Amino acid sequence: MHAAVFYGPNSISYEDVYKNPIDTEADRFSGTVLKVNACSVCAYDTRVFRNGHSKVTPPIILGHEICGQTVEDITIGDRLGSSTEIRSGTRVVISPVIPCLNCIYCVNKQYNLCNNLKEIGSSVNGGFAEYINIPKQILEIGGIATIPDCLTNEEAALIEPLSCCINGFSHIGYPLEKERVVVLGDGPIGLLHLQLSKNLYRAKTAIVGRIPHRLEKASSMGADAIIRIDDDNNKTYQACDHKYINVRNDLNSSNSKSIAEILHFTAGKGADIVIIATNNPAALDFALKIASKNSRINIFSGITNSNSDGLFIDPNWLHYNQISITGSFSSNPKSLQEAVRFACNRKIDLSKLIGNCYSLADIEQAVLTTENCIGLRAVINKF
Ligand SMILES: [Zn+2]
Ligand SMILES: [Zn+2]
Repeated sequence: MHAAVFYGPNSISYEDVYKNPIDTEADRFSGTVLKVNACSVCAYDTRVFRNGHSKVTPPIILGHEICGQTVEDITIGDRLGSSTEIRSGTRVVISPVIPCLNCIYCVNKQYNLCNNLKEIGSSVNGGFAEYINIPKQILEIGGIATIPDCLTNEEAALIEPLSCCINGFSHIGYPLEKERVVVLGDGPIGLLHLQLSKNLYRAKTAIVGRIPHRLEKASSMGADAIIRIDDDNNKTYQACDHKYINVRNDLNSSNSKSIAEILHFTAGKGADIVIIATNNPAALDFALKIASKNSRINIFSGITNSNSDGLFIDPNWLHYNQISITGSFSSNPKSLQEAVRFACNRKIDLSKLIGNCYSLADIEQAVLTTENCIGLRAVINKF
């Protein structure tokens, strides 16, 4: 079997792992095996590639956004009291969460919060390989969903990130039609939040980002306002339509034009919901500055160097303005099923988020493309 093995920061190697087997805990789980059809590259994978991660012990195979195919008949959902048979040769997606099934969170079916959590593509071998072991816990909790013909393998690989966004909104409360939502970050995750906010909840939604081609995508997805933060003060960018506002990178200034534009978008009130869909620590402070009274701020993304930058919040500001700041992490089988439904009925168009496709041998190129924000989601689809 060919796989891309991560050996530590800046070291990933495409190789035959039968000749050079890597022993991980995944090999000791009994469950099933999937043939991998497609696996997309998450920003998390790029951060691990560069810096390693406390959850990741090399050598290991990364990749958690997986569309695969069963190689035997399997039964899922035993723990739900309604088991389902899936025939051999069926295309499926998985939730990468591997719960212990014993802790208090697992008993409450909050598997993503498990005290002994393991994750496909992070603490056990993932989808940048021809085949992948699926531990039996994932089968038992129904963390595997079948994919109808209406979705391509590449689209199906994006079901997992979509399910995480659905989990985030279910955690903070779905936007109401009258609410103003601001998404910080123009990557695939920001654009998924935009689609959910607009297409499912019909909330007026603004997106704040840096990259012209991604913001133009946001425009085509119906963003109500697009605010581009421009690092290059001397460059003028051609606005693509009347909704498109180009501002200098002034996030740290006290009379920031970016903040003024958000206030304008929200009729002076501030955002009811702020989604942080970027790993930029500056987004945290910016979110606090644009939040309205009674607002919800969700830290969806992992933040780069969160320790060194920290986040100071005046407790009285939170108290008197009744602000909620939350985090959300990964997803659960229910959000996975919902994600498949929304993608199939085209409430969410995953095809718009697919960037370049690569063969597994070119994994490093796919990671670099992701790191440099070229295109949108890079997908490995040849093994
Ligand atoms: Zn991911
Ligand atoms: Zn647990």
